[in-house]
Amino acid sequence: MVSTSVKKALVLGGSRGIGAAIVRRLSSEGMQVTFTYSASEERAKSLAEETGGDAVRLDSSDREALIAAIGQQGAIDVLVVNAGVAVAGDPLGMDPNEVDRLFSININAPYHAAVTAARHMPNGGRIVFIGSTNADRSPMNGLAAYGASKAALKGMVKGLARDFGDRQITVNVVQPGPTDTDMNPAGGEMKDLMHSFMAIKRHAHVSEVAAMVAWLASHEAAMVTGAALTIDGGMAA
Ligand code: NDP
Repeated sequence: MVSTSVKKALVLGGSRGIGAAIVRRLSSEGMQVTFTYSASEERAKSLAEETGGDAVRLDSSDREALIAAIGQQGAIDVLVVNAGVAVAGDPLGMDPNEVDRLFSININAPYHAAVTAARHMPNGGRIVFIGSTNADRSPMNGLAAYGASKAALKGMVKGLARDFGDRQITVNVVQPGPTDTDMNPAGGEMKDLMHSFMAIKRHAHVSEVAAMVAWLASHEAAMVTGAALTIDGGMAA
C-alpha cells in the first residue's frame, strides 16, 4: 500500500526533454509520478520503467480526453504542464490550423488541466506551467504565435493563484531560455545567434529547469504564487 505521505505528481508531456527531466527529478524526490506523452511511446515506456511511474498516452490538443484523463487521476498534489510545441516562421505564410493547434496545446490545455486538477487537489497543492522567456522577449522574427502562447500563461497563473489561494494551492510559470532538447538542440544551427542574446552564453541543461520546478513543488516555496520564474541565462535581462 502506498503511504499517504507519498506525493502524487502528474506531468503533462513527460516523454522527452524538459518534461522527462522533471519526471526524473520528482521521482527521485520520492513522488509517485504519472506522465503523459503523445507520439514518443517507446521513450515514454522506457522512462516509466526507469522511474517506476506510469505513462499515459494523451494528446493535449484533445480537450475532452485531457479533462477525462486528469479527472481519472483523482487527487494530484503536483501538476506540471510541460507539453508544448514551437512553431516559428513568417506569420504571413503560416498555416492557420497549425497556429490554432499551438494555441490549443500551449494555452487551452494548461488552463483546462489546471482547473480539472484543482477540483480534487488537496490543500497546499502545486501547479506549475512551463512557459518561455519568449513571453518577455522576442529577439528574433517569427515568434509571435509562440511568444503569445507563453505570455498567456503569465496572466493565467496570476488569475488562478487568486482563485486557488484560499486552499494554499500555488500556481506559477517557469520560463526557460534556450535549453538543450530535441526542440532546441545545444548544437543546433541557431545556437550562436541565441547565445548572442544571453548574458550566460550556453544552453541550459534540462536538469537545471527541472530543479526550479522541484523547488516550486517543495514546502519551501509555499509563499510563491502567481509568479513567473525565468531561467534563461539572462536572455530577457
Ligand atoms: P521537446 O519537443 O523536446 O519535448 C516536448 C514534450 O512535450 C515531449 O514530451 C512531447 O511528447 C510533449 N508533447 C508535445 N506535444 C504534445 C501533445 N500534443 N500532447 C502531449 N504531449 C505533447 O520540447 P522541450 O522539452 O524543449 O520543451 C518542453 C517545454 O518547454 C515546452 O512547453 C516548450 O515550449 C518549453 N520551452 C523549451 C525551451 C527550449 O529551449 N527547449 C525554451 C523555452 C521553453 P511526445 O514526443 O510524446 O509527443
